[in-house]
Amino acid sequence: MSATRQYPRKEMADLAARASVELEEASAEEIVRWAVDTFGARFCVTSSMADAVLTHLVSRVAPGVDVVFLDTGLHFNETLEVRDEVRRTLPVRVLSVRPELTVGQQDGIYGPRMFHRDPDQCCHIRKVEPLERALHGYDAWATGLRRDESPSRAFTEVVSYERSRGKVKVAPLARWSTQDVDDYIARYDIPVNQLLNDGYGSVGCWPCIRRTGRGEDPRAGRWAMFDKTECGLHSAA
Ligand code: SF4
Repeated sequence: MSATRQYPRKEMADLAARASVELEEASAEEIVRWAVDTFGARFCVTSSMADAVLTHLVSRVAPGVDVVFLDTGLHFNETLEVRDEVRRTLPVRVLSVRPELTVGQQDGIYGPRMFHRDPDQCCHIRKVEPLERALHGYDAWATGLRRDESPSRAFTEVVSYERSRGKVKVAPLARWSTQDVDDYIARYDIPVNQLLNDGYGSVGCWPCIRRTGRGEDPRAGRWAMFDKTECGLHSAA
């Protein structure tokens, strides 16, 4: 991808506001094409490695795109296997971003099992701060958020501007249903995290997830002991 100029913040906010309206009915590929044409190499993808749908889709439009994976040190092996398969099989550059502290160092400073006492702080150390660091060299990032995943994601815009980060967030799959995702996986034989075939409705760190029952919100298994539904990556305004 060729580099484009860096946009001033005000211009990025205006760009995002216009694109949010103009691309609301656009296909996922058209949304990605807009992001690539607008931001070039200053655009990246983030992936939780639940599956490789978004990564695959973006790599078709922009081979060589950077894919940011937050390696919290607390992932299931199944998740790391998807990351490795993506790295092996897709034309992308996977960047595994780690927290400043290892799990052992975090335990030493804050006490063991912070995820069971203060998951917000744990998520901040192991996810939010690493994401801020990873996004430093980019103006725009794509996420796999979908409106039908949970009530907290029901109003996801296809393009938005995060004023606090100074970044444009792109959600090409926002309007996709679970069926759309399944169809794409079948059509392109996309790598899928085995946890999703083993009763987990979503993918996350092993201490903070449980299997979900039939008919349950797919994200109901996250931080089940707490009044917490998101890790903080998507709460930037
Ligand atoms: S999901 Fe749990 S273990 Fe992972 S960073 Fe957040 S609180 Fe920590």
